[in-house]
Amino acid sequence: MSTYEAYLDGVGRDAMDRCTSCGKCVEACPTAAEIGLDRTASVRIVEELKAVTSGEAYPETAGKWIDACNGSAQCTAACPEQINVRQWMSVARIKKRTGTVPEPERRAVGAQKYRNMAHAMRLLASMQIPSETMKRITARGEGRDSELLFYTGCNVLRTPHIVFNIMDILDTLGVRYDVMGGAANCCGIYQFNEGDTKTHERIAGRTYESFAQTGASKVLTWCPTCQKQFAETRHEAAPRDFGIGHVTGFLADSIERMRPHFVDLPKRRAVLHEHDSLAGVTGNVRRLMAAIPNLEVVEIPQHRDWSYTCQAGKVWPGKVAEIHKLVAEGAASVGADLLVTTYHSCHRQLAGAEAQYPFKVMNFTDLVAEALGKGGRHDWFKQYKLGGDMQQAVELARGYLQQNGVELREEDVATLTAEVFGENGFGGDRAAFEGALRQLATP
Ligand code: SF4
Ligand code: SF4
Repeated sequence: MSTYEAYLDGVGRDAMDRCTSCGKCVEACPTAAEIGLDRTASVRIVEELKAVTSGEAYPETAGKWIDACNGSAQCTAACPEQINVRQWMSVARIKKRTGTVPEPERRAVGAQKYRNMAHAMRLLASMQIPSETMKRITARGEGRDSELLFYTGCNVLRTPHIVFNIMDILDTLGVRYDVMGGAANCCGIYQFNEGDTKTHERIAGRTYESFAQTGASKVLTWCPTCQKQFAETRHEAAPRDFGIGHVTGFLADSIERMRPHFVDLPKRRAVLHEHDSLAGVTGNVRRLMAAIPNLEVVEIPQHRDWSYTCQAGKVWPGKVAEIHKLVAEGAASVGADLLVTTYHSCHRQLAGAEAQYPFKVMNFTDLVAEALGKGGRHDWFKQYKLGGDMQQAVELARGYLQQNGVELREEDVATLTAEVFGENGFGGDRAAFEGALRQLATP
């Protein structure tokens, strides 16, 4: 057993030692309710979870609960013993996969999921990011010299305007920072989820080591999954001499330094699409929004407790579509000018609502950058979803694909169109995007 596997094993054992089997975690869990688990049997389900964690048995009910977990952390909030039940569930998932699926299969599934993500992300990023910036982001840690490292993770590069916004904000603050991300600097989540801990350890360990090589005293994460993987798990398993935290915390703590740069903006009313399960992030975004001149945040009912981000749309398409519809209808009903997203995965899915509702969809980084007079970063991904004239997008993408040495093949057209439009039905003319891609594809 490696040091990291021993750490995960210890997390599971510590949770079992402290757990009193009160069952409150099961009762609070939104996905347990969604899959119809009998929550009056919560005590028995927790006992089953313990059996899985210790590798003794893999009972069906606990297995269903573990597979359904989407990381909402409602269990952790409900636990009277202050156990990080979300983290325990991740360990139990690894134990279940290890105990029930042969290693070659776990390795193959994790590798395939990683390849699918990396391929789609590389194509979409290469259509929107100039090659010099791409090289800067995707380089390793050696040879860098920064006081602060902004770690993007992989998937936000599909919506790179968010990354550019944060870089613009850090530039305005006069911070000496570097930026790192892309599939070569992955957090290893695909392997982690499949229980391929050896490959996970190699990928995530290399990225974590790369953080240290930059010499930065602080790493700022963007992606909530990376934040969970690095800040909640790896940094505890193998602490290094840099601090790690979510970028929204740093930005919210820098509001007073931003104020002198704020420009005049028109009065606007905004609804924030929220997830309340990653400590502090929603509060940080709210602090930033409260500081933006002439912006009023309007409250609507929404499902804040469902998952830690909208990435689970592929697993729960009906539920996520329902949540998004509630948010969009709510924003329209209070006459909001803006629907504001926090994470990239939510932004990808909600951006298309602008085609159907009378408000604009912006990421909170768009708003902060705009307030600092830097809001010129175009959201090409949103434009892909809205349809209309794609000629400018095609010309830009053609040049960037060439610069980045990336070829778009005919078979990628269907894959990318499904990626961009497949999530919740919001969007404009799908054929406009498909046609634009076809112009770029090599037969
Ligand atoms: S993290 Fe959320 S979905 Fe997972 S077990 Fe806990 S409450 Fe349920
Ligand atoms: S809420 Fe905490 S103590 Fe109660 S069963 Fe769940 S993990 Fe154990």
